Amino acid sequence: MTMDFASRVQRVEPSATLAISNLAAELEADGVDVVDLSVGEPDFDTPENVKQAGIDAMEAGHTGYTTSNGIPELREAIATKLQDDGLDYGPENVIVTPGGKQALFEIFMSLIDDGDEVCLLDPAWVSYEAMVKMAGGTLSRVDLSPYDFQLEPALDDLAEAVSDDTELLVVNSPSNPTGAVYSDDALEGVRDLAVEHDITVISDEIYKEITYGVEHTSLGTLDGMADRTLTLNGFSKAYAMTGWRLGYFAGPEELVDQAGKLHSHSVSCAVNFVQHAGVEALENTDESVVEMRDAFEERRDMLADLFADHGVDVPVGDGAFYMMLPVDDDDQAWCEGAIEDAHVATVPGSAFGTPGYARLSYAASKERLQEGVERLAEHGYLD
Ligand code: PMP
Ligand code: GLU
Repeated sequence: MTMDFASRVQRVEPSATLAISNLAAELEADGVDVVDLSVGEPDFDTPENVKQAGIDAMEAGHTGYTTSNGIPELREAIATKLQDDGLDYGPENVIVTPGGKQALFEIFMSLIDDGDEVCLLDPAWVSYEAMVKMAGGTLSRVDLSPYDFQLEPALDDLAEAVSDDTELLVVNSPSNPTGAVYSDDALEGVRDLAVEHDITVISDEIYKEITYGVEHTSLGTLDGMADRTLTLNGFSKAYAMTGWRLGYFAGPEELVDQAGKLHSHSVSCAVNFVQHAGVEALENTDESVVEMRDAFEERRDMLADLFADHGVDVPVGDGAFYMMLPVDDDDQAWCEGAIEDAHVATVPGSAFGTPGYARLSYAASKERLQEGVERLAEHGYLD
C-alpha cells in the first residue's frame, strides 16, 4: 500500500540541526571520535537541586495529568519572572508546553492560515520556516548577513519586507544561529513597523539568560507592543534541561484560549513532575545560570581567538552559544566534508536561510573546541 501523505508534511524537511547531531551520534556509535559542534545543547548537567525537585515531585505522586495549561505554581512563577522583566502577564496569560518548540508550533498553528505571510530575520533558526510551512504560511525574509547579523542597520530592509499583508514577524534575540543580541534602537524600529502594519510579533527569548555584558530587552515591554507580542521561553538552554522538554509562551488571553485548544487536543499538558522541577529552576538556580553563562563567554572568546589565529574573522555575538563561521559558498558540501574528513560536526548556514556559513555551537568544553579548530585547520577547512 502507498500512503498518501498530507502536503503539510511533504512541504518540509527533517530538522537539519537534529539530523546532523544524529549523524554525529551514528559515527560515534561506529567508534569515530566526533567533535560535535552541531546541536545547540548545553554540555552541562541539569543543576542538582532541579533534578532533586523532579525526583521529589515524582515521589510525592505528581505523576498524573495536570491542568492543561500548566500547574498553577509554575504559571505563577513564570508570570513573576516575566513581570520582573517588565512584562505585564499573569498566570492566565501563560501556557506551559513540552519544550519551547511546542509553544512555537501552537502559536503558528493558531495564527497562520493558508497563504498568510510570516517574516523571518535571516539567518533564522531552522524550525521557524518548517512550522510556517506546515501551517500553510508564506515567508518573507530579511538577510542580516550583510550587516554582521545586526538588526539595526537592516531596518530599511525590514521595512521593505513587511506590509499590511504581514501577519507575523519572528524576532529571536539573542539569536540562534548568530548569537546577536539586538539593540534597543533595533527593537524600537521593529515596534514602529509592527504598529504601522498591525503585525503580531513572536519574541523568542529562549537565550535571554545567556548574554555577555549586554542587557537583553524583552520586546513586549516596548510601548505599543504588549498586546501584539507573544513571548516565548523555555528551560532547555538557561537551565541545561533540554531532555526534560519544558517551555512556555505568554500572550493575550484570547490567544491563550485559541492555542489552549490545540494544546489540550495534542499534548494534554507538559509532564507533571517536570513542571515541578521547572518551579525550582525558576526560583533557585541563579548561581548555576551565572556559572554556565561565564563558561560560555570564555569559550566564545577562546573560539573567536582560535579562528583569528588561523586568519578567519568570525562575527561574534553577545549572547546564546553559537557562531556563524564564514565558509565556502557551498556550505552544505563544506559541512559534509568537515564531518567526513575532520570529524567535526557543524550545521550548514543554508539550513538557517543563509548559505556561505557553518553554524558552530560552542556549548562544548574548551578542549573539544580546540580540538575541533585544530582538526578543521589540519584538513584545510580554514584555508
Ligand atoms: N527557539 C530557539 C531559537 C531554539 O534555538 C530552540 C532550540 N531548541 C527552541 C526555540 C526550542 O527549544 P526547546 O524545544 O528545547 O525548548
Ligand atoms: N535549538 C537547538 C539547535 O538549534 C536544538 C536543536 C533543535 O531543536 O533544532 O541546535
